[in-house]
Amino acid sequence: MRIVLLGAPGAGKGTQCKRIVEKYGLLHLSSGDILRQERAAGSTLGQKAQKYMDSGALVPDEVIVEMMAGVIKKAPQAGFVLDGFPRTVNQAEKLDKSLACNDKKIDAILNLKVDDQMVAQRITGRRSCPKCGAVYHVENLRPKVEGICDKDGTKLTQRPDDSLEVVTNRLKAYHQQTEPVVDYYKKNNTVYDIDADKDIDEVSALLFKNLSALAEGRGN
Ligand code: ADP
Ligand code: AMP
Repeated sequence: MRIVLLGAPGAGKGTQCKRIVEKYGLLHLSSGDILRQERAAGSTLGQKAQKYMDSGALVPDEVIVEMMAGVIKKAPQAGFVLDGFPRTVNQAEKLDKSLACNDKKIDAILNLKVDDQMVAQRITGRRSCPKCGAVYHVENLRPKVEGICDKDGTKLTQRPDDSLEVVTNRLKAYHQQTEPVVDYYKKNNTVYDIDADKDIDEVSALLFKNLSALAEGRGN
C-alpha cells in the first residue's frame, strides 16, 4: 500500500503513522523528521531548510521533491505511508509523475480533519524524545514521569517551531498551500476524510477500518 496522510500540523499524523506502520508493516516517511535529521547532521540540505522551518514557512518544492524521491525509491515492496509530504499541489504532481514512471500510484489519502484551535492546543503541548522520537503531549498523552520518555528515560524537549507564534505561520501555510492538495487528490484518488477531533484510539480505529477495507480490495 502507498498511503498519504494529510492534515494540518498537529492533526496527529505522526502519532497515527506510528500505529499504521506497526499494524500494516509499511515504511513511515515523514518529511519533517527527515529534515530535522538533516539539520541535526549539519548537512547542506539541513542548512538550506533551516530558515524556512524556523519561521513556519514551507521549504522550497525542489528541495523537498528531490529529498523525498530519494527515500521513496528505497521503500520496501510492502509500501509506505507519507507524513507531511506532499504539502503543495506541485509536490503532489511531481510525486504522481515519478510513481507513474514505475506504473505505480498512491492507493489512498487519509485526510485528518481538525479545527485550528485544536491544532494550537495539540502543537503547543507536544513534547518529543530527542533520542527515540516518541511523541507525547503535556495533557493528552502524558509520559509516566513528567518530562521523561517512557521508553528510554531521556528528557523530553519541545520543538522550537511548536511555539504559538510559529504555529500561526504554519497554519497559514497549511490553509494556503496544503489544503488545495486534498482537492487535487479528490479528482483521481480515493480520499478518506477522517474526523480527527477524537481521542487517539478512536482516530486509529477509523483509519484502520478504511485501510483494512483498502487492503482487502473493498476500498471505495
Ligand atoms: P502531526 O504529526 O500531525 O504534526 P502529532 O502526531 O505529532 O501531529 O500530534 C501533535 C500532538 O497532539 C502530539 O503531542 C500528540 O501527542 C497529540 N495528539 C495527536 N493525536 C491526538 C488526538 N487524537 N487527541 C489528542 N491529542 C493528540
Ligand atoms: P512537520 O514536522 O511536518 O511539522 O514539518 C516541519 C517543517 O518542515 C514545516 O513547517 C516545513 O518548514 C518543513 N517541511 C516538512 N515537510 C515539508 C514539505 N513537504 N514541503 C515543504 N516544507 C516541509
